[in-house]
Amino acid sequence: MSSAPSRHPHDDQFHGHHGHGLEAKPDWVPENAGAEFATKVARGVQPAGDVRHQPGVKRRQLSLDDYFHGVRSGDLGVLARAITLIESNAPAHQELAQTLLTRLLPFTGGAMRVGITGIPGAGKSTFIECLGTRLCEAGRKVAVLAVDPSSSVHGGSVLGDKVRMEKLSRHPQAFIRPSPSGGSLGGVARKSREAMLVCEAAGFDTLLIETVGVGQNEVTVRSMVDCFFVVLIAGAGDEMQGIKKGIIELADLVVINKADGDNKQRALAARAEMQRVLHFLNPPTVGWATPALAGSAVTGEGVDEIWRQVEAFFAHCRGTGLLRERRQEQAVEWLHALVHEALKARFYRTPGVKADLRHIEQAVADGRLPAVTAAQQLLASSGLAG
Ligand code: GDP
Repeated sequence: MSSAPSRHPHDDQFHGHHGHGLEAKPDWVPENAGAEFATKVARGVQPAGDVRHQPGVKRRQLSLDDYFHGVRSGDLGVLARAITLIESNAPAHQELAQTLLTRLLPFTGGAMRVGITGIPGAGKSTFIECLGTRLCEAGRKVAVLAVDPSSSVHGGSVLGDKVRMEKLSRHPQAFIRPSPSGGSLGGVARKSREAMLVCEAAGFDTLLIETVGVGQNEVTVRSMVDCFFVVLIAGAGDEMQGIKKGIIELADLVVINKADGDNKQRALAARAEMQRVLHFLNPPTVGWATPALAGSAVTGEGVDEIWRQVEAFFAHCRGTGLLRERRQEQAVEWLHALVHEALKARFYRTPGVKADLRHIEQAVADGRLPAVTAAQQLLASSGLAG
């Protein structure tokens, strides 16, 4: 086991001095915040002996080497800043971020990448807190990342705005990062994927990627993790939990949470029912029959067994070569997604398309122009059609 990361995850987020409430820049300030990342916040504690964070003094810019060695040595402050760099939309930051990623890439891939989804209230964060703390106590290094396109700095986030995972966030072997804010699901997912890689290069061996079970989020997260599990609760309704929309078919593990107290019997019944349903579905991982398990994130009952199943899943995937195969496929898929996204952005930015789009859209809407002809005309106006 490599050594524990060298600093507390919160140290770098608030750079005030001994609680005097000086203005400072948290590390997760988002894209569009300008080159300075200049959001004001925070009281905090000056980490002992850390010369970079003098109050009122602009943080020293880190060089590529600083980022690289900081991440590789497990410095959580530098890790947080590296992720901030990745999340920045400023071209200079993106260039540096890509150079950094290229250097870090040989040191990635060592973690178990686990995705966790479920509707708000299913108990994901409580569950991750419980599981993550146990894993840390067992010597693992756990990074928790969130993928939540609804998030923004000023609220509106499904995952971000409550005080979450307080105990885990204080654990020296844990690193918790809120979702990159706002923007398209594709943009948020790109940043989270890269953040995952940086965490791996920093020595984290367990990545828990949390997402809200709505819309496309879970499909996207499925495409970036090895093992994907869905947290359900008894009695919330299949429709609401997306069960009818096929989310269960993406799952390598289904967890019925809140199997405690008065709710325990209902949870166990839901588990048995889910096990029957799973029997009729095609599991997403060849040779692995998705199990349904019950547990309680509050009492911790069942959580060890759930992790044992995750480990069994990884043993299966490693043994069969599926893990490697899945990651290779995901990387190539991601490449194509990036190309598509970049092409699309370029297309809509061309002067020809900008000039013609409105009236061509109108013509299609009015039924004056067939959509196929319209698309050809736009491609021609863009100059990208060759
Ligand atoms: P999330 O929105 O999916 O992250 O859900 P939270 O972790 O915030 O949990 C929602 C609520 O359910 C909170 O009030 C939790 O205390 C509660 N909760 C979560 N897990 C359990 C559990 O296993 N048992 C019980 N009884 N309550 C739980």
